[in-house]
Amino acid sequence: MAERDVDLFVIGGGSGGVRAARIAAEHGASVTVAEEYRLGGTCVIRGCVPKKLLVYASRFHAEFEDAAGYGWTVPHSSFDWTTLIANKDREIARLEAAYGATLAKAGVKVVKNRATLIDAHTVELADGPRVRAGYVLVATGATPSYGDPIPGIEHVISSNEAFHLPHFPRRVLIQGGGYIAVEFAGIFAGLGSHVTLIYRGENILRGFDDEVRHHVRMEMEARGMRVLTGCKVAAVENAGGHFLVRLSSGNHIPADRVMFAVGRAPNIAKMGLKDAGVEIAKNGGIAVDEYSRTTVANIYAVGDVTNRINLTPVAIREGHAFADTVFGGKPTKVDHTNVPTAVFSDPEIGTVGLTEAQARERLAQTDIYKAMFKPLKATLSGRDTTVLMKLVVDGLSDRVVGCHVVGEGAAEIAQVAAVAVKMGAKKADFDATMALHPTAAEELVTMRKRSATYARVAAE
Ligand code: NDP
Repeated sequence: MAERDVDLFVIGGGSGGVRAARIAAEHGASVTVAEEYRLGGTCVIRGCVPKKLLVYASRFHAEFEDAAGYGWTVPHSSFDWTTLIANKDREIARLEAAYGATLAKAGVKVVKNRATLIDAHTVELADGPRVRAGYVLVATGATPSYGDPIPGIEHVISSNEAFHLPHFPRRVLIQGGGYIAVEFAGIFAGLGSHVTLIYRGENILRGFDDEVRHHVRMEMEARGMRVLTGCKVAAVENAGGHFLVRLSSGNHIPADRVMFAVGRAPNIAKMGLKDAGVEIAKNGGIAVDEYSRTTVANIYAVGDVTNRINLTPVAIREGHAFADTVFGGKPTKVDHTNVPTAVFSDPEIGTVGLTEAQARERLAQTDIYKAMFKPLKATLSGRDTTVLMKLVVDGLSDRVVGCHVVGEGAAEIAQVAAVAVKMGAKKADFDATMALHPTAAEELVTMRKRSATYARVAAE
């Protein structure tokens, strides 16, 4: 390229884009980031961080109840949604500013503007100027989908709006059975709403271990959330002050808020991708190779816009690897296997590696170790709850290929278990590790009894 204004132009100031910009700048590149909304992207502004703050808020109610068994008398508690949202917004603003400061410190220029591709090396900003770039990184994330058009869809909100509701809804109906639907069901229920979850399939959380799915649903129902499966929302009617939700099963359910969490679509529209020659993959995301390079040699894409594994730490790794590859002289691929993940539902799920079904399909022999127990804390509180822990083990090599936890602290446990799984630890290594007593996680090293062994039949 004859002339360039910058070495790298990043479109999108979310987790992946910001990490890539900073590392590229540290490698000596001149970098500009364009962000049309707020720095921080989905995770910081309307995803992981505000969600987790709401999750914390939602868990106090159960703590107040449990305290009685431990001798506490908790005076009548009340919850104020406006205070929570204002405090959450203050923290998000602080984080957004921190992202800006990090980029400024690294010498990255930030433009608060929408950017579109004109050709492989030219980006146009919404207010006119064009920028010539050596490389372009597309890190524009994804946006909530609403599924098939139905009457009254205009009354439906997504998680984006759920973070800013002016009033706390007493009755919430959520459609979807994935991460967001299940997490928000727990948030609203914990804060005091009557929650109904509508899921089109047989059971929520498709893709997770079947026993995890069953256990979470049972526990959610025990906590008062209504889970209706095998049906969909057919229409939403404005009933004056509230909504009447008509289901495909024929039922009508009144709700103050109707939220859909039916997946997210990569942000690829009206970006000039086609003009620049960037191809879209079958999964709806930008097609990339293992270095996150698109079908155009100098254009890369990372994070949710590629629709690989749509998790913040993955986007960050991909952005970092891109910067090292292109500007650091160190070609780096991201390993997308054994990525730990958590659903901050009520109860929480933490998981890494293969589910039992995946293992049975892929391995010649699968051993399953499982523990279900009442956590110690629930003894005095009297709470009726059960923790589920499960290890999926390759029966021939003894390697632990999956770890699944449902219960308090599940996400924290899964993060640490992921190190062992990633290292290829064997069940014998777990067994050789001394238990830390009294914890819930000690079950992972004391589950000696093989509860099930499955040998795959050769003809299968
Ligand atoms: P998910 O893909 O997790 O779940 C979508 C759900 O909506 C599924 O249950 C799906 O059903 C259902 N669905 C899809 N289309 C329709 C439709 N037309 N009508 C009715 N139901 C439908 O998406 P989310 O929106 O929950 O989350 C998006 C992504 O964000 C996640 O995949 C995850 O990668 C990320 N995320 C991660 C979090 C975390 O790490 N804790 C938290 C929140 C989001 P079916 O199963 O039948 O396809």
